[in-house]
Amino acid sequence: MVSRWACGRCGFVAWTRERSAMAEVTGSHLLAHHSDALSKSDFRVSWNCPYCATAKTAYDTDEAVAEFKSHLHDHVVDRIEDGVHVADRIGWDGVVRVDAAATDDEADALRAHFHDAAGIAVAVTPTPERLVRALDERLDSWPRRTVIVSTGEYDFEATPDVDFEGVDIEIVELDPRLSPDEVGETVSRILDANHEPGERVSLEVSVFHQIVAAFDVERAVEFVRMLAARLADAGGVLQLYVDADADRNVATVLNLLDETIDLTVAVDDGRFVRRP
Ligand SMILES: [Zn+2]
Ligand SMILES: [Zn+2]
Repeated sequence: MVSRWACGRCGFVAWTRERSAMAEVTGSHLLAHHSDALSKSDFRVSWNCPYCATAKTAYDTDEAVAEFKSHLHDHVVDRIEDGVHVADRIGWDGVVRVDAAATDDEADALRAHFHDAAGIAVAVTPTPERLVRALDERLDSWPRRTVIVSTGEYDFEATPDVDFEGVDIEIVELDPRLSPDEVGETVSRILDANHEPGERVSLEVSVFHQIVAAFDVERAVEFVRMLAARLADAGGVLQLYVDADADRNVATVLNLLDETIDLTVAVDDGRFVRRP
């Protein structure tokens, strides 16, 4: 679980692993909103707090800025919530776009965060070994049930250092030539067979680029919408791992999915942030 701060002036939200790490986030963010409260003249730098009557003047710019940030942070410290999850933002129901290439460490941080809070984790990924390692290294305990749907081969022997004792995991190998409909049907069947009532589902889709590359834009859009609708029945969060800069067609599909995507998050300097 993480700590969360939501800016009261704009849609910015940040989540940090440690509450103490939030001071730098709030201070910098609020300073950007109130940059005119900071001024330089006669070799000196001054700030006037927009929230209270405090004003300071100093010679050392860095020190003055740090002090102002810390002061701004104090005004919002009561609004930082602890023990929350990114998916709480959408009530654990909907589609989260994760702005990170599926094979980045940043993606691992978020996939671990989502799967950690679910009873059943389903991951459609071309790199099953990466997922296994991310969960093994980052989670205290695995979800009750983990199903990896992979277009790549996976051999449990490939990760001899991972202890699967007590871990309920299954790998479903997919033919890489399967259509989005067939991938969607596979996921749907897995949910039918494994989901227990009331249990949170974390569904990771790390093959979005491949689907967009192999099929037309309409089918890729339809694939996500159908999965989202299927998941709405079960109750859970679909995470789409995307690097929109890498592929123009992916950006097009994401534009078309604007109404379907409930939240966009990225990893910035170790923190999770909401992208507007
Ligand atoms: Zn803001
Ligand atoms: Zn103040």
